Amino acid sequence: MAGSGAAQARLDKIVRLIAAEMVAEVCSCYLMRAGEVLELFATVGLNPEAVHRTRLRVGEGIIGDIAAHARPLALANAQSHPNFAYRPETGEDPYQSLCGVPLIRSGRVRGVLAIQNTQRRNYSEDEIETLETIAMVVAELVTAGELVNPQEIASSSDVGLLPQRINGMGLNGGLVMGHAVLHQPRLTLREMVAEDPEEELARLRRAVASMHSAIDDLVEVGQATGSDEYADILESYRMFAQDRGWLARIGEAILQGLSAEAAVERAQNEMRLRLGQVADPYLRERQHDFDDLANRLLKHLAGKADPAVALPEDAILVARSLGPADLLDYGHGRLRGLVLEEGTAASHIAIVARALEIPLVTRCARALQLIEPLDPLILDGNNGQVFIRPAEDIVESFNHSIRLTTERRRLHREVRDLPSVTKDGEPVSIMINAGLQAELAHLESTGAEGVGLYRTEIPFMVRADYPDVSQQAELYRNILDQAGGRAVTFRTLDVGGDKTLPYFSGYEEENPALGWRAIRIGLDRPAMLRLQIRGMIRAASGRELRVMFPLVAEVREFDDARALMSMELERAKAEGIELPRDVKVGVMLEVPSLLWQIDVLLKSVDFVALGTNDLHQYFFAADRNNARIGHRYDVLAPPFLGALATLFDRCRAARVPVCVCGEMASRPVEAMALIALGARTLSVAPQAVGSIKALVRSLDASRVQAFLTPMLRSRDHSLRHKLRDFARDHGVSIDDVAVGT
Ligand code: PEP
Ligand code: MG
Repeated sequence: MAGSGAAQARLDKIVRLIAAEMVAEVCSCYLMRAGEVLELFATVGLNPEAVHRTRLRVGEGIIGDIAAHARPLALANAQSHPNFAYRPETGEDPYQSLCGVPLIRSGRVRGVLAIQNTQRRNYSEDEIETLETIAMVVAELVTAGELVNPQEIASSSDVGLLPQRINGMGLNGGLVMGHAVLHQPRLTLREMVAEDPEEELARLRRAVASMHSAIDDLVEVGQATGSDEYADILESYRMFAQDRGWLARIGEAILQGLSAEAAVERAQNEMRLRLGQVADPYLRERQHDFDDLANRLLKHLAGKADPAVALPEDAILVARSLGPADLLDYGHGRLRGLVLEEGTAASHIAIVARALEIPLVTRCARALQLIEPLDPLILDGNNGQVFIRPAEDIVESFNHSIRLTTERRRLHREVRDLPSVTKDGEPVSIMINAGLQAELAHLESTGAEGVGLYRTEIPFMVRADYPDVSQQAELYRNILDQAGGRAVTFRTLDVGGDKTLPYFSGYEEENPALGWRAIRIGLDRPAMLRLQIRGMIRAASGRELRVMFPLVAEVREFDDARALMSMELERAKAEGIELPRDVKVGVMLEVPSLLWQIDVLLKSVDFVALGTNDLHQYFFAADRNNARIGHRYDVLAPPFLGALATLFDRCRAARVPVCVCGEMASRPVEAMALIALGARTLSVAPQAVGSIKALVRSLDASRVQAFLTPMLRSRDHSLRHKLRDFARDHGVSIDDVAVGT
């Protein structure tokens, strides 16, 4: 590698050297070309005529298999492998054994390096590892661009400079326009191999120390953002930075002869491949933390630790993924929006974006390929869309939406302090949903009456270990303090599914949405649920405590959970702790089975919270996170509305208050239908309070009820159009704005 000369000549020399060193008759190198084709670029042992002629698709033959799965394969009898593809021009008939490894750079497969032997040979773990280390060095030569023009790979992905639209997943709402900043252009690794491992280890130690102290500084800056959740996330990130296993693997790679930089890269590739295969969502998310740490460490090794990024005023950051500390490198409050190729609602970056109020769209496939630095972008976090180099009509539509939003904000401010009562005198309480401490500030700004749903899981998801009773009590106390006497309904831990906790990882389910989650975990691990309730009781002392249990599927589950609550109240009494002034215990109605036990249930609950998000997914058996079927069934479908109508009737008859806290309540047409069916408390996203209040005040509840009731028996797929027309004809405010849809 260190030699001079053209890349092809060096590659030819490298395969000869490898064959000799590894005692193999053949050593070949295949490189990835446009269209996912692997081309034989150099060989010793196979027919030289085949070079640049033999081509395999990714997935074809053993070489294609190695590239497709990005993992090494060692076969004592390669020809009996089901994927063996015979290529006569290579003259490989006499070779029985094969050991091949992928060439990986920046998480992408760039080719395959393989050795072959005539005799049957069982390649040892050490030999495979050695080949992998060499493969890293070769990957570096490949990505330098002399062998395969990088444009070739890029041009095959039809990047033009035309306007483009990416549909992703909006994880934090907001509509913004700005210019693209691409996150972290990768540092090019110059020296792959090093003569003096001791010197490299010393460099590594110095870089790790300076990285740790820089992270300590970032944790302090993070604390100054005022978001406790963000501070917790940074704290657990700091722990990752000290992970001994990770640092030890880097050290081992140095001892194999790599430079410190190459060793970091190698450990990162390994980690990516390993974590990419695990099903556990928590561990998969941690991959982003390690990617981020590896890049940070490389910068410290290069002595370029100070990012000093020059940002345009209206920067929208585009990245594959982001670690929690990255945002602080750009400066708190300096980013208008975030576009990510990866990331789920449970990812740390999604939580941070919400806490810092930065609009975020994730799952934007190929964003880094399609977006050039400083491209104009429109990011629509409400609809999960990103417009790249938007055409004039889209910009015009954006400006129009912004004007409307500004106008609407003004109207919402006007109704903020007016009563939330329909035109025919029906009061409708408007509460907010929250899950971050920062969101409690919205109570004041929107004039909402309280928190109808406080999702307690975030503090559990962002910490590396389980918060103990006093930490939990402090969290809940802060929330009640900030609510300043307004009602707050705490929901006990709703984890499982894609919301996994660090200390629960390793548990894999085929159907997580139907699996071990929410109250099911709480009842199977009563100590955990009791600790949470204990924290809440301590926090509430002297004040009202409202608690509800998620995903209850039968009355017995509610009874059992309530019994735990009673035990905790007894315990608090015995300990002489000041009890809450009043305790109200309710249930989240999210599983259809409860509808058939509703009369029994209503005898024992103090209130019902209707979780339409989950109820709808279980009602229609349609996964709420599956984009393909997410919109197949409407919440305004007659059978679903019919079920809700029954529920409201029963609750009214039993005098049990019911609050709707699914997303349905935040959308004006849906909220209108809910009020028509009998809902009198809606808990909505903070941004929706203004438009829902405007809706309530413009609505005649009995008229829309008279309109809707007979339609509940219709055969329509959805009543959306009819309800929307009704609203328009009757001057009901149902403003909803989206750009480009
Ligand atoms: C619901 O299911 O409607 C709900 C409010 O809970 P979550 O969205 O947190 O599952
Ligand atoms: Mg739910």
